[in-house]
Amino acid sequence: MEKKKIVILGAGFAGLKLARKLNNNPHFSVTLIDRYNYHQFQPLFYQVATAAINASDISFPIRKVFQESKNISVRLAEVTKINKEKNEVETTIGDFSYDYLVVSMGCTTNFFGNKQIEELSFPMKSTNEALTLKNRLLTNFESAYSAESPEEMEEIMNIVVVGGGPTGVELSGAIAQMKKFILPKDYPDLDFSKLNIYLIEGSPNLLGPMSDLAHKKSFEYLSNMGVNIWTEGRVVDYDGKTISLADGRTVKTRNLIWAAGVTGNVPDGAVTKEELQRGNRMKVDRTSKIIGTNNIYAIGDIASMETPKYPNGHPQLARVAGDQAEHLAKNFDKIAQGFSDDKLSLFEYSDPGSMATVGKRKAVVDLPKFSFSGRLAWFTWMFLHLMLILTVRNKVAIFFNWAHTYFTNDSSLRIIVRPTKKDFRFNLKQYRRFPKNRDKEIEA
Ligand SMILES: Cc1cc2nc3c(=O)[nH]c(=O)nc-3n(C[C@H](O)[C@H](O)[C@H](O)COP(=O)(O)OP(=O)(O)OC[C@H]3O[C@@H](n4cnc5c(N)ncnc54)[C@H](O)[C@@H]3O)c2cc1C
Repeated sequence: MEKKKIVILGAGFAGLKLARKLNNNPHFSVTLIDRYNYHQFQPLFYQVATAAINASDISFPIRKVFQESKNISVRLAEVTKINKEKNEVETTIGDFSYDYLVVSMGCTTNFFGNKQIEELSFPMKSTNEALTLKNRLLTNFESAYSAESPEEMEEIMNIVVVGGGPTGVELSGAIAQMKKFILPKDYPDLDFSKLNIYLIEGSPNLLGPMSDLAHKKSFEYLSNMGVNIWTEGRVVDYDGKTISLADGRTVKTRNLIWAAGVTGNVPDGAVTKEELQRGNRMKVDRTSKIIGTNNIYAIGDIASMETPKYPNGHPQLARVAGDQAEHLAKNFDKIAQGFSDDKLSLFEYSDPGSMATVGKRKAVVDLPKFSFSGRLAWFTWMFLHLMLILTVRNKVAIFFNWAHTYFTNDSSLRIIVRPTKKDFRFNLKQYRRFPKNRDKEIEA
């Protein structure tokens, strides 16, 4: 029997889960393509950025997952274009033909078209960026020793996080904890009472889509930890030293962390600009097939699926991505058995709840019927995130780090490591046709 070829673009929560579900399936040969050779556990990026855990504890080599596989091939490449007429995907290492294509390329940071902010701020949407941010925070305090004026010192000592969703809340809470427990010990001759953390959010509440309790508690926790929260504040400009808001307020800072939104990583040729939905997502039907195509599917953050429960599309969450992948794998099995499209099952998401952590013993949890906060919420958050980590080795490593930090309020991961120029040059060679924007990211 000839196997059908499935090409999966992106090994994030959706793509990796789908590949694992199709592992050793006798009906399909699968090629899984990603620009990195590892899967990234994004919910803990903020802990990498604040030197609480190692990057390797939340990044898993994709090839290791499929060492024993008989039907999954992994390729390290940047996807550049989909050629629907030829049923081919163009990448930096060559073209791949497919019978079925699954786009699961997730999202990237949305700078809302502001090139200046894109150039000068620090986003956190990949392990590379989380490490870049960690290096930035650590070198920032080193540079305080050579500040030449009070004004320069103020720029160094102000850290501004833009975006009051879970990422912004978790990150500003973690930086506030560094300020309290770690920085005064590491830099005893610097005055950290002058370190100001700002969290700027455009809407009236932090953690917008969550419950009123989550709004109230996250605000209360962060305020008590000394974070300056500016809600209904819209950042319009940044020159590398001063942030300007639409209402005229300004903050001096060299440290702008941008967590204000995401936009879909849509490959060229997938859909037309007019067909794109809000947030650059591709419209799919309830079997995850991209509207207007015969054999191309989209799952995870990049997909916009209208259902009776979610008329505006699903929330962009790891759990949604995983559930869609599992659902699509079952439908592929049905396709292999000869079911027609109208006999495939339709996806719906069952929401188990959401949560966010703010700091030690401070978290908020929304379950479908009730919400809670505080110590119990914090332990719930830790337990569930630990369960979601992919390998036992990483679960143990993270658990050990958390336990150590819990008792000592410290970690020993504050090292500044940067690739050498040579490493960078060889990385570039690894891609045959290297798109312009990628060398910028690696260089950063
Ligand atoms: C900081 C942060 C914290 C988060 N916290 C939570 C949380 O606590 N709980 C929760 O449920 N969700 C959380 N999320 C959201 C969650 O991570 C996403 O919903 C989830 O990752 C979506 O899965 P995905 O497979 O669609 O995309 P991703 O997991 O982003 O995977 C996309 C993959 O595609 C690859 N890719 C992209 N473009 C290309 C290209 N051109 N060529 C080759 N490969 C490419 C990427 O390298 C990546 O591996 C968080 C997100 C972030 C950024």
